[in-house]
Amino acid sequence: MKRKIKWSTSIFLIGYQIALIGLLISYFLLKGLPHWHFLIYIIVFHYLTMLGVTALYHRFYTHKSFTLNKVVELFLLFLSTLALQSSVLKWVGDHKMHHFYTDTDKDPYNIKEGFWYAHFFWMLRKLKHEAPETLTTDLRKNKLVVIQDKYYYPISFTLNIVVGLFFGLLYNDVLGAFTFLVLLRLFIGHHSTWGINSVAHYFGSKPNSKNESAVNNFWLAIVTLGEGYHNYHHTFPADYRNGTRWFHFDPTKWFIWILSKVKLAGKLKKFPNVEMKIVEPSSTKV
Ligand SMILES: [Zn+2]
Ligand SMILES: [Zn+2]
Repeated sequence: MKRKIKWSTSIFLIGYQIALIGLLISYFLLKGLPHWHFLIYIIVFHYLTMLGVTALYHRFYTHKSFTLNKVVELFLLFLSTLALQSSVLKWVGDHKMHHFYTDTDKDPYNIKEGFWYAHFFWMLRKLKHEAPETLTTDLRKNKLVVIQDKYYYPISFTLNIVVGLFFGLLYNDVLGAFTFLVLLRLFIGHHSTWGINSVAHYFGSKPNSKNESAVNNFWLAIVTLGEGYHNYHHTFPADYRNGTRWFHFDPTKWFIWILSKVKLAGKLKKFPNVEMKIVEPSSTKV
């Protein structure tokens, strides 16, 4: 069966990366280097928006590894929407399919189709097996999630334009702000997250389970706030930690732990205290 091309997604994802290359070259030729503060902002924005994805989209909405205060949820949702990595409902549906059907035809980013397919090309066509709505039934009762899904593109584009304009006007460098703080930061965030689907199923070690392609990769943990310990994560997906040892770089785990200490999060799931089996999609428990 021929899979339909998702034109708007393809044009956006390919288009913005080509535009970024053009803008970077033009900027360096015409203006040289941007204000050094921009480097700090890129790092801060990258990690803040990534935290929205790792703590909220991944460990809270998908795996329900802990409970969360509603105000913190809204704050993290704001950050994750700025990351432009699709709405919660789409992201969670795909990720649950990935856990249920890892390395098979039903896995949206099946590594068996190749490294670059798992990293990028899976997003450009309709999936052979789209995630059924039943996988996100619980989230469809969450008003914040429903509103985010309904107005996802207007909200996420507006937020990014506001960031670009704000810093552009502040530093009298709108071109620089859009090139570095919007497009380059999106590029770094996208490839870091996509790396979980490609690099973390390809390059690394398998200390916890050898049954699947998922591996632990320290370098990926650095850019994804701890998500690089993917072999452990596939073995015990509901654990709020991905890196379990004290020396594992997992800031998302530290963030959730700190939230729990100030009573903004609770019921942190941790192996071996909870049963963590992968179940069929007829159930929404992961
Ligand atoms: Zn995986
Ligand atoms: Zn997961």
